[in-house]
Amino acid sequence: MTADILFSKPFHAPREMENLARVVQGDHAHGDGEFTRSATRRLTDITGTPAALLTTSGSHALELASRLLDLGPGDEVILPSFTFPSAANAIALTGATCVFVDVDLRYGNIDPQQVAEAITPRTKAISVVSYGGVAVDFESIGRIADEHGLAIIEDNAHGLGGEYRGQQLGAFGVVAIQSFHDTKNVHCGEGGAILINDPSMLERAEIVREKGTNRARFLRGQVDKYTWVDVGSSYLMSEYNAAVLDSQLDSFDHIQAKRHAIWSSYAHRLPTWAEAENVRLMDVPDDRRHPAHLFFLQAPDHEYQTALLAHLRSLGVVGTFHYIPLDSAPAGLRFGRRLRELTSSQSFSERLVRLPLWADMSDDQVDRVIAAVTSFHR
Ligand SMILES: *Cc1c(COP(=O)(O)O)cnc(C)c1O
Repeated sequence: MTADILFSKPFHAPREMENLARVVQGDHAHGDGEFTRSATRRLTDITGTPAALLTTSGSHALELASRLLDLGPGDEVILPSFTFPSAANAIALTGATCVFVDVDLRYGNIDPQQVAEAITPRTKAISVVSYGGVAVDFESIGRIADEHGLAIIEDNAHGLGGEYRGQQLGAFGVVAIQSFHDTKNVHCGEGGAILINDPSMLERAEIVREKGTNRARFLRGQVDKYTWVDVGSSYLMSEYNAAVLDSQLDSFDHIQAKRHAIWSSYAHRLPTWAEAENVRLMDVPDDRRHPAHLFFLQAPDHEYQTALLAHLRSLGVVGTFHYIPLDSAPAGLRFGRRLRELTSSQSFSERLVRLPLWADMSDDQVDRVIAAVTSFHR
């Protein structure tokens, strides 16, 4: 028996152990040490954003974003139904209301037309995710946000290294978040970051991340004692995680080259089968660059999705679906409302199949995935 081809496998970067040993044997294991500084620099180099703060997770970075925007009871935030629950939690935790809208059927990204329709006097922000790192229509979303004075929260968990019209993703929200969960292209087990594109928000972000204190200013010698100045939490990434993350980010180009090669194999070798089966393969518009975070296909209907996943599983290939729409989930019904019946999110979700994609997949494993997929027929 050959081993199953897993859906995802964390990358191991070359200097992780050496970096970790330095933290374990050193005198600084809490946040904001040398590896945090180095990893933060590498991150802002990749995203081109003016500032970033490492956090304990992408979910916590979203919570921090909600605090920076002062969301609270009575406020509404518009977000896609087809997204990760953390985007909704970050809103619901403040007492604000989630207003769910649909995604488009081709890319799974938020539908700008529905965003415009969902705006009320209570709307404060639009939370978007570039699904699979294929950028949302930032031109339309940006125009709507400007017209109504709304903030954009950019969940860039999939998008590190992606671009929209020549500009790196992570630069489109007033704040953006990254996740370094071990299913992401670059990881440190659990971790995240908030990217700050409005420099006037940086000082407050440091305070909220540091238990509501001005400790960061104190450590820089800007105030002579530190104290409680705002409501915050402990969102700092420890140096153990930062040591691994720094090594991973150092390998970013290598990771991306390997992931892109696998993505391209799927994109080049599946079309004949896909066309015959009436399956649509993930594609990317000319004005966007994806970061090879995932490769998906869209089955013609839900039964096909279920049968294809079972067929792959029987051949030792672990494919998977993705988000279950939030608007009709138990918590979605309690903490949100929807613009209308979100049929596209439902349809996108119940026809989606993602294929294994991780940097160290061998050519043989990629061949096996392609053979498994193309041996399936309705
Ligand atoms: C992974 C992910 C998150 C959450 O990140 P964590 O670091 O696991 O908290 C948020 N949004 C999206 C779209 C994600 O894929």
